[in-house]
Amino acid sequence: MKLVFASNNKHKLEEVRAILTGHEVLSLKDIGFIDEIDETGDTLEANSLIKARAVQQFLEVHPSPFSIDGIFSDDTGLEIRALGNQPGVRTARWAGEPAVDSRNRAKALHELTGITNRCARFRTVITLIRKNTEQQVEGIVTGRIAEKEMGDGGFGYDPLFIPEGYDQTFAQLPAEIKNTISHRARAIEALRDILENL
Ligand code: IMP
Repeated sequence: MKLVFASNNKHKLEEVRAILTGHEVLSLKDIGFIDEIDETGDTLEANSLIKARAVQQFLEVHPSPFSIDGIFSDDTGLEIRALGNQPGVRTARWAGEPAVDSRNRAKALHELTGITNRCARFRTVITLIRKNTEQQVEGIVTGRIAEKEMGDGGFGYDPLFIPEGYDQTFAQLPAEIKNTISHRARAIEALRDILENL
């Protein structure tokens, strides 16, 4: 199928294309969508829906030359148990505007100073819009926040996140491992199940 992914984040796109093999994934740039989408929701579910609906509305006004089978979006949050599941929906802008990954990671380390329970999880909510039906699936990976940044792969909070069963961060592990066990990988596999059972 030909699907629009409601993102221009090159890291996310690379991951999504590597995981959702067998389907063609177009970016926002590919369909000429250049606006910023305001993520004004209070939950990952709400923000994921806002992104997918923004693309749907754009395509109603600017029909694509490609024949598009569906739109999907992802919204991700880091939930740190000792901080009452913060930053959650505020993950991207936790350290303030503008969103800067290195400042967010520094804040995570600062907030966890002296805290031994470093359990955390990433949660991704994907929204699929197809023929005016909206469906959501989620993917979760549990793990812990490292004592310091390690590795230079991946993006966002990857240098801090050690998935359960491993002793390296997502930024140290090969992309093939992250793309098998991550929050995004699990959400996309759930998306794949929907697409294959249409
Ligand atoms: P959003 O889903 O694009 O709104 O991302 C929310 C925040 O989570 C941003 O700070 C991203 O950098 C971060 N993030 C999203 N996905 C990942 C990931 O796979 N690893 C690490 N950080 C991520």
